[in-house]
Amino acid sequence: MPVKNRFAELHDDITAWRRDLHAHPEILFETHRTSALVAEKLRAFGCDAVTEGIGRTGVVGVIKGKSDKSGKVIGLRADMDALPIHEQTGVDYASRTDGAMHACGHDGHTAMLLGAARYLAETRNFDGTVVVIFQPAEEGGGGGREMCEDGLMERWGIQEVYGMHNWPGVPVGSFAIRPGAFFAATDQFEVFLEGKGGHAAKPQETVDTTVMAAQLVLALQTIASRNADPVDPLVVSVTSFETSSKAFNVIPQRVHIKGTVRTQSAEMRKLAEERLTAICAGVAATFGGTADVRYYHGYPVMVNSEEQTEFAADVARSISGQCAEAPLVMGGEDFAYMLEERPGAYILVGNGDTAPVHHPEYNFNDEAIPAGCSWWAEIVERRMPA
Ligand SMILES: [Zn+2]
Ligand SMILES: [Zn+2]
Repeated sequence: MPVKNRFAELHDDITAWRRDLHAHPEILFETHRTSALVAEKLRAFGCDAVTEGIGRTGVVGVIKGKSDKSGKVIGLRADMDALPIHEQTGVDYASRTDGAMHACGHDGHTAMLLGAARYLAETRNFDGTVVVIFQPAEEGGGGGREMCEDGLMERWGIQEVYGMHNWPGVPVGSFAIRPGAFFAATDQFEVFLEGKGGHAAKPQETVDTTVMAAQLVLALQTIASRNADPVDPLVVSVTSFETSSKAFNVIPQRVHIKGTVRTQSAEMRKLAEERLTAICAGVAATFGGTADVRYYHGYPVMVNSEEQTEFAADVARSISGQCAEAPLVMGGEDFAYMLEERPGAYILVGNGDTAPVHHPEYNFNDEAIPAGCSWWAEIVERRMPA
């Protein structure tokens, strides 16, 4: 089966919704216009229930099938938030909000799940219940976690959850997925190094924090190169280095370092935190200073369930003829919290040969809509056959 005919008919409508969302990007939990628009459309489609304000600005819609002999409840999730990037696509529906942009394609994700909801509410050709989940704040805010904390899974009795992300570099109309660990855990750290500031011409009277911090940045690279199992992925990146002086002739009293740690297993995540803390203390002590380390746990590793991944890949193959094995991704994904609570799978849908996500020239490819919507609809109709 290629794409569903109904989505060829709805393609123009869904594209228009997508471009409207694109012109009005909203960041993190501030998806007020987007959430209101989603809720309004779900009601207009005839969803059985629509609830707003889950996980602050999240929206949940319920669509009951023709029958409910199976008692099954499947959750389908899309993200709605944009990024703080100045758009440079030059398209006529470009962002009207300076400094905000749909640079990760969540406009496309929202529009595709709306399209699927419209179809499912029209046809109801399944035995069970679908819960469509629209979450804010995927880009670092933990909107998925907040929806889970608001009782998303229990309140709607969700038994399985599915998610989708567009992927530049994968051909339009095709898919890629992998079972097990897929997207990385994303932790952050800050280190405040304290020494003894003074005159740059009298280093012997100081405890030089810049030399200490320079050694520390290099020493932190040994976590990945010397402590980690080489076949278990780990990234440690220092991304900010600020001294307390801007002068040419002052040895600064303090240096503030920031960075991120990406891992694909709980063991590696624990090891990285332990080694980072120990190395900071050790390097600071070596040079006579102190290190105050703050380590912040971000999104957990996103793990696809075996059975649901095989099913999701099978559905993808029925639409596009094949489904590629996706590589491990060292970026994070807030859907990880939903997959920690319920079995499910997260798939990549091709965005074609476009700029990468989070780039100012990136744009969601509207040609991906029929395949993406068909995958959502087929997940429901095949998992809960009427
Ligand atoms: Zn993103
Ligand atoms: Zn994204």
